[in-house]
Amino acid sequence: MPNDTNLKVTFCSGAGTVTGSNFLLEGNGKKFLIDCGLIQGEKLADDTNWDPFPYDASKIDILFITHGHIDHIGRIPKLISEGFTGKIISTIPTKEITAIMLEDTMHLLSRDVERGLDKIYTEDNIKKTISLWETLEYHQVLNVDHGFQFSFYDAGHILGSGMLEIVYNGKKIVFTGDLGNSPSPLLPDTEVITDADYLIMESTYGDRNHENRNERKSKLMQVIKDNYNRKGTLIIPTFSLERTQELLYEMDSMVENNLIPRMPIFLDSPLAIRLTDIYVKYEKYFNKETLKVVATGDELFDFPGLKETLLTDESKAILHVPNPKIIIAGSGMSNGGRITHHEKNYLPNVNDTILLTGYQALGTLGRLIFDGAKRLHILGEEVKLNAHVETISGYSGHKDSDHLVEFVQNMANKVKKVYVVMGEPKSSMFLAQKLRDNLNIDASAPDAGEQVTLEC
Ligand SMILES: [Zn+2]
Repeated sequence: MPNDTNLKVTFCSGAGTVTGSNFLLEGNGKKFLIDCGLIQGEKLADDTNWDPFPYDASKIDILFITHGHIDHIGRIPKLISEGFTGKIISTIPTKEITAIMLEDTMHLLSRDVERGLDKIYTEDNIKKTISLWETLEYHQVLNVDHGFQFSFYDAGHILGSGMLEIVYNGKKIVFTGDLGNSPSPLLPDTEVITDADYLIMESTYGDRNHENRNERKSKLMQVIKDNYNRKGTLIIPTFSLERTQELLYEMDSMVENNLIPRMPIFLDSPLAIRLTDIYVKYEKYFNKETLKVVATGDELFDFPGLKETLLTDESKAILHVPNPKIIIAGSGMSNGGRITHHEKNYLPNVNDTILLTGYQALGTLGRLIFDGAKRLHILGEEVKLNAHVETISGYSGHKDSDHLVEFVQNMANKVKKVYVVMGEPKSSMFLAQKLRDNLNIDASAPDAGEQVTLEC
C-alpha cells in the first residue's frame, strides 16, 4: 500500500448542471469514471460536449454507468473514439437500455458532419461499447485489484438504475446517479443507505417539492374522460424511457378495471416501443405490487385498444382514425420526434387536449405550450393553440427537495461530506445549505472541473 491512500474525485461535468454526468475517481494507481453523459439543453452547453475530456481516456480502468438516460451514457462513443479500452460496468437492464438509446442518438447526432460527430457516433463505436460491457446484479460485489470493491444499489429512478457504492480502505463512497421519486408505479423504492462516508448526490429538484403525487393517477383518469366526453384527441408528449411505461401501466389498469371508456390508444414512438420490450423482459425488477399483477398473468403494458405504430405510414394513418382517441409519442419536451406532427394537426382544435407529464426545459416547444403561448411555430408553420393544455407534475422521475434530505438523513450520523451535483447551481446550493442547516452535516456544491480529496 502506498502511504497516500486518499482518493480524488474530479467533477468533470454534471456539476452546476442537471445533465452531462461525468465524474473521475482516482487513487492508488487506478482511475475510474462514473457515467459519461451528454450535456443537454442550451446550445452553448451542447457544444462543450465535443471539447476533449479533461483526462486521458486510454488510462481509465473502468467506466461505471448508473443508468441508461442519455445524460449519463451519451458520450461513451466519444470516450471510445478517444482511446478508452477499459471495462464498462452496470446492471443488466442498463446495458440493454443503453444499446437502444445510443443507437437512437446515433441516428440524430451522426448527421452532424460539421463537428465530426459522424466519426464518433458510428455503428462500430457502439458495437465496441457493448463489447466492453459487463454486468452486475444489485448487491453483487465486484472486487478490483488495489483494494477496491464496487456494487450497485437500487436507485428506483428508471429500470436498472443503480447507486454505485465503492468500498476502499474501510471507507464507503456512494455516487447516487439519479434518485427515483419513490414510490414509483413500477419500481421498488430507492434503497436506504445508512453508512456512507462520502456521498456524491444529484439535486435536480434540490430547491423544490413536487405537487399532487397522490393525485397523479386520478388526474390522468379525469383528463382521459374529459377528452372522451368532448370526442377529442388527447396527445401526450412523453419520454420514451420510464415515463411511457408508467403511463401504459396506469392506463392498463384503468382499461382492465373499466375505469375509463374503451378507445384507440396509440403508442406512436419506435424508441418507446423498443424500450417497453426491455421492461417486459425485466419485469423481475419491478416493485412487489406490480409483481403481484404480473403473477395474475396480466401483460402490464398491453391492453384492449392499445396499438403500437412502428412504421411512419402507420403513424400518419392515425390522423384518419375517428375520435375519441389518445396518442402517446416522443419527444417528451416536443423538441422533435413524431409528437410535433400531431401537435401541428391537433393543437388548433378546441376539443382536443395536450397533456404534459414532465419537466419542460426552457427553449423547447413544450415549454412554450406549458407557458400558455397561443401561437407556435411547428415544422415551419404557424399553429394556433386552441386545444386544452393539461399538466400532471406528479410523474417526475426524481426525488424532490424534502425527499433528497430524507435520503441523506439516514446516513447523517456517519457521513463526513456530501457533494451536491447534477442540478442547476441554485438548486444544488439550496440543497447543500438545507443539508447543513437541517442535518448539521458538511455539504457543498462543487463547480464543474473542481477536484476534491476524500480522506481514506
Ligand atoms: Zn436519469
